[in-house]
Amino acid sequence: MFSMDFIHSIRFRLLASLFVLLGLSISVSMYGIWVFERDRYMVIAQSEATKAGQTIEKALRSAMLQNNRAAIQKSVDDIHAIVKPSVISILSYKNKVEISSDKSMLGRSFDRDTNASCTGCHITRGVPPKRSEIFLETEAGPVLRNVIKIPNGPECYGCHSPEQQNCGILLYDVLFTDTIEMLHTVLVRMALTGLISFVFLILVLSFIIQRYVHRPVNQLMEGFIHVGQGDFNYWVDVNTKGEFQEMADLFNVMGHAIQRSFAKIKEKNWETTSLYAFVQQLSRAIEWTRLRRLITELLQETFKTREVVVFLSREKQEQMVFEVSWRQTDDPRYHHRDYALQVEADDLPFGTFLDWEKWRNGELTDINFSSNDTRAVLPLVSKNISLGLVCLQREAAQPFSGAEKQLVFAIREQLAIALANARLYRLAITDGLTELYTRRYCETAMRKLREASELNPEKGFCVLMLDIDHFKQVNDTHGHQVGDEVLIQLADLIRASIRQDDVACRYGGEEFIMLISGNLKVGRESALRLRRVIENHLFISSTAPPLRNTVSIGVASFPLHGKTCTEVIGAADQALYEAKEQGRNRVVCFEDESGIPANVNTSPENGDS
Ligand code: GH3
Ligand code: MG
Ligand code: MG
Repeated sequence: MFSMDFIHSIRFRLLASLFVLLGLSISVSMYGIWVFERDRYMVIAQSEATKAGQTIEKALRSAMLQNNRAAIQKSVDDIHAIVKPSVISILSYKNKVEISSDKSMLGRSFDRDTNASCTGCHITRGVPPKRSEIFLETEAGPVLRNVIKIPNGPECYGCHSPEQQNCGILLYDVLFTDTIEMLHTVLVRMALTGLISFVFLILVLSFIIQRYVHRPVNQLMEGFIHVGQGDFNYWVDVNTKGEFQEMADLFNVMGHAIQRSFAKIKEKNWETTSLYAFVQQLSRAIEWTRLRRLITELLQETFKTREVVVFLSREKQEQMVFEVSWRQTDDPRYHHRDYALQVEADDLPFGTFLDWEKWRNGELTDINFSSNDTRAVLPLVSKNISLGLVCLQREAAQPFSGAEKQLVFAIREQLAIALANARLYRLAITDGLTELYTRRYCETAMRKLREASELNPEKGFCVLMLDIDHFKQVNDTHGHQVGDEVLIQLADLIRASIRQDDVACRYGGEEFIMLISGNLKVGRESALRLRRVIENHLFISSTAPPLRNTVSIGVASFPLHGKTCTEVIGAADQALYEAKEQGRNRVVCFEDESGIPANVNTSPENGDS
């Protein structure tokens, strides 16, 4: 179907303009040539006819001098046989046709003032005509009439008096039908030639426009469509030297520049989005143990690493220890282990020993990528405090890209900030000696448990208040150092005996509180288990012989023994007091589920009540 788009296309406009221009110019030039050729031919034909007329006049003159009409007629007929269909007529000086090759002309008179064929030349009366030939339209066709005067001369004076100027007139009618036909043929041939030239020119121009304008324009348009659809890799090849080739080259350069910029924007966008997601996830954890796991998992997910190993250093009782967490693609589990400073190469996962040693010796201060960009080692430092080291290992076929490297740099900063914050938080909520939570954290944790319990009454919790029996004696006998060592080991025993979600705090001096999820029965069993473990434990110290220590534990339950945290702690404290009163090394509940007070529920045999 004819599309309106085609009318507006450059090809149509060019072709239409050329069509009109060529048509006009060919028509005008053809017409000019035709008019020029026709007139020239007519002038030639006219002059030839005039000359022929004069020749005839000369040829007839001797016969005319003899006044031999039969001889004149014969000569006229003989000449007519040669020049026919032209007509030769001789008029007397009274303008009457006396002799003619056309018998129908005989006797015909011409009045030069009225006859149409005469008035063409005799325009003004009494004035000699300016020309002696005229074109006439006759039934037989166009005729050029030559009017030749037969002049009077001495040889004619026998018949004509000397005063008389002419003896008669010779009319030589040259029939131009053939000439006009020939001119028409020439015209038709010229028109045909013009038309063929025109069609040929249009075809050639159409080909040129198609090949050198339409096709390159279409190829460029195709390029624009591809670029518009985001395919910046599309290459326009117009195969035409000149402006279109230059345009295509510039277009390709532009496409590639856009592609590069677009890729950079995409990389930057990916980097920003990934960093944002990473930081957002990271901000969800401030607690040290949660954070180290989160870091390990996030690094693996973000960089699609084969292995991630995260070393973190931590202060423990005025010493530095380090912990290592790792994960790998083949095994989605999270691994974690604590180490003292003395480790063997085999102790550390995935051959990270060398990196760890370098870092520990302070030789690794900046991010290091392996030569093939499949391994990245990031020391984590915040305010001159060395917080840890991250080792990222990718598959050989998946080296870090430029954008990923940039992200590694950005993430490293965020990791250091998150770890520094977690470290401060850890220092704020943990006791430096025992690494158990502080009293303040205990109160916060208890408030949260109470709120959860209020929302869901099924979720009760117990407070276990523990005090070392006769601890003053340990200090007094073996010194504070040994006392501290006992406190550290006791904290380890507490940590090991509670569940992951339970909270153990150093409440003050040698008093500890444990928050145990569950009812009074769960709390009491937990306390009994811990008391026995401690009773059976041999406390080792560097300066004293192995010691045995016992503890007394008071147990209270929320909401059974108090509606507020203070009330529950008070109840646990009262139960602890009761345990001490009853002879120590025992567990006493504030009151059991039946409401019987703890102080009446004693059992000296097994030490628990
Ligand atoms: P009881 O069985 O009645 O609890 O007797 P006790 O000697 O344990 O008495 P009390 O609980 O009042 O003793 C507290 C002692 O704990 C006093 C102090 O010397 C010791 N202590 C408190 N904090 C520390 C500490 O951080 N380190 C050491 N080594 N000792 C501490
Ligand atoms: Mg005490
Ligand atoms: Mg005590």
